[in-house]
Amino acid sequence: MLEGRVVKVESKDIYVLTGDGAEYRCSVRGRLKNSFNLKKDKLYNLDIAVVGDHVIFEVIEPAVGVIEEVKTRRTFLSRKSPRIKGAGYRGERLEQVIAANIDNLYVITSVYDPVFNNKLLDRIIVTGESSHLDIHIVINKIDLDDEGVIEPWGKLYEELGYNVYYCSVEDGIGLEQIKEHMPGKTSIFWGQSGVGKSSIFNAIFPGLKFKVGEISDLHRKGKHTTVTAVMKDVGENIKIVDTPGIREIAPFGMRKEDLGHFFIEFGSYLNNCRFNTCTHFHEPGCAVRDAVETGEINFARYESYLNMLETIEEDINF
Ligand code: GDP
Ligand code: ZN
Repeated sequence: MLEGRVVKVESKDIYVLTGDGAEYRCSVRGRLKNSFNLKKDKLYNLDIAVVGDHVIFEVIEPAVGVIEEVKTRRTFLSRKSPRIKGAGYRGERLEQVIAANIDNLYVITSVYDPVFNNKLLDRIIVTGESSHLDIHIVINKIDLDDEGVIEPWGKLYEELGYNVYYCSVEDGIGLEQIKEHMPGKTSIFWGQSGVGKSSIFNAIFPGLKFKVGEISDLHRKGKHTTVTAVMKDVGENIKIVDTPGIREIAPFGMRKEDLGHFFIEFGSYLNNCRFNTCTHFHEPGCAVRDAVETGEINFARYESYLNMLETIEEDINF
């Protein structure tokens, strides 16, 4: 029996890396599958072992193994599955675990091309908060910010307590700093297509070669939507999880009355709302809305909140 960590999942093949750097292509022991199938209405089959899982496996041939045990996940990032045919009954959206045992979530954004989208950023932050990850925000392409539009946004997120990194791959600015909280940790990266994620990877992890400008959505248009995350050891005791096939991540199974907990600045107000099921929208005696009115809570963040609240109302159907 060996111990290792899942670095890639491709349909039924689970690739496991051991501490001494050997990679094994593994399947999952039938017995293990069965125990998970009990909950199959909540889980993708693929979620039995996901990228980042610590597993115990038996070697059956050189570089081939069978997973016997998946260790309990310390953290995991999940999302609602996209509406793929066959993903669930009646096309409903299930929970899909993207990666396990991760510490940091890096959200890569850009000033322009694509233009900075605070609502999208807030959605990702909520997903990260609900998965108990440390959140870091990278703002790339500051070379394009002639009018200084990004600073107020950066300040907002810094004041909320998130690490904000301003950088430009084009001008070689602010890149090394991004690695500050990575050693000894596993970090997952998410960014809208075109923000410069591949460029940043190439700049800060010289051993990796990502194709810049590649339309990374290409393979998503085919049937193979199974490659969703890949873990890489990039040296300096840094492990990264890239999410090339993941267009959006949104929290799974969140109730309306819980959403406010993941907007961290709402925290101190939540207990002062008149109703403990307050959704901070239309209810009388809402302390969060009062704080928005006095400017203690940023209005753009509150708008993001309302935006997400609306989508929760549409999506939750179980
Ligand atoms: P990804 O889709 O997030 O992986 O983005 P890429 O790394 O492929 O970059 C998308 C485009 O943005 C490419 O044309 C890059 O040359 C460009 N780009 C990346 N970083 C910067 C930057 O700091 N400034 C500017 N102006 N362009 C950048
Ligand atoms: Zn309220």
